[in-house]
Amino acid sequence: MTDRLGPPLAAPLVERLAIIGVGLIGSSIVRAARRKRAARFIAVADVSREARERAAALKLGDAVVASAAEAAADADLVILCAPVGADEALAREIGPALKKGAIVSDVGSVKGAVIAAATPYLPAGAHFVPAHPVAGTELSGPDAGFATLFVNRWCVLTPPEGTDPEAVERVRALWEALGANVETMDAARHDLVLAITSHVPHLIAYNIVGTAYDLEETTRGEVIKFSAGGFRDFTRIAASDPTMWRDVFLNNREAVLEALGRFTEDLSALQRMIRRGDGDGLFELFSRTRAIRRGIVEQGQETAAPDFGRGRAEDGNGSGGK
Ligand code: NAP
Repeated sequence: MTDRLGPPLAAPLVERLAIIGVGLIGSSIVRAARRKRAARFIAVADVSREARERAAALKLGDAVVASAAEAAADADLVILCAPVGADEALAREIGPALKKGAIVSDVGSVKGAVIAAATPYLPAGAHFVPAHPVAGTELSGPDAGFATLFVNRWCVLTPPEGTDPEAVERVRALWEALGANVETMDAARHDLVLAITSHVPHLIAYNIVGTAYDLEETTRGEVIKFSAGGFRDFTRIAASDPTMWRDVFLNNREAVLEALGRFTEDLSALQRMIRRGDGDGLFELFSRTRAIRRGIVEQGQETAAPDFGRGRAEDGNGSGGK
């Protein structure tokens, strides 16, 4: 397999890196940073004893501890990689332990709420550079991560106005070293864009799989037994981590409700076309959506393979952005 992460860096970008939450995303950062020799020392913290034991067994991190404050003390860069609902408490916990000039970042799928929740607890001498790697899979935990997860994926930085540009550049350099393409965006815009491209699609998947499950009782297994590719793909998305996604919807409420409003209107229009036998309308929409998929494939954000490239997950192509 081609190592598209490229060779290790000539010198580490970060002396001491702390990863708080060593699940899919946190452990992938550790694996990639290790391969690239992007950090001289990596401390990992997780509340879950099982995750810590796996992280230690997989040699993820030079130190694996339970306390976020302990991992963050002395760190030059701390990355919060727990579900976004935990970020306020984490900021409160690590704030007093941070050294002067430390950079704090995160990987949360929601940005506005995380900035509002964490900022008040970070000391004046620390720099907060929120980030969201738009890469992931439906799996969780330290075993699910892999070093090439971020290769050729977007990582969106949403630094609030006035953030130290040098701190932003250091976070950008790290993500680029991990293989990501980095873009900077306003947090509110990020939340709206991600609501329609990621959050609402997950809600639709949870909903359709839930509906089919309820139908299952009345159709004695036939829904699952004869499920075609479309439904199977929804079940993959609907298998995503319940804690993470609960937190996404609770923390991106306004943008998700706005996107859902539009979605519901468009769904009603489709319903009307079907009822009225408007084949031209249906055909026109399906042709437009097909062109959108072609554009995504052409931009290298997806493969044209019928299995969506899932067989090549280790190659960094098997994941949908989150
Ligand atoms: P994950 O695999 O479930 O890992 C999260 C880890 O953090 C778990 O081990 C969890 O322990 C631990 N944790 C929870 N609360 C904590 C706390 N207060 N302090 C320290 N550790 C804590 O989750 P993930 O998929 O990596 O997602 C992590 C973050 O990345 C989320 O904010 C999510 O929005 C973002 N993200 C996810 C994806 C994706 O596709 N999964 C993509 C982009 C961004 P327990 O299991 O005991 O709770």
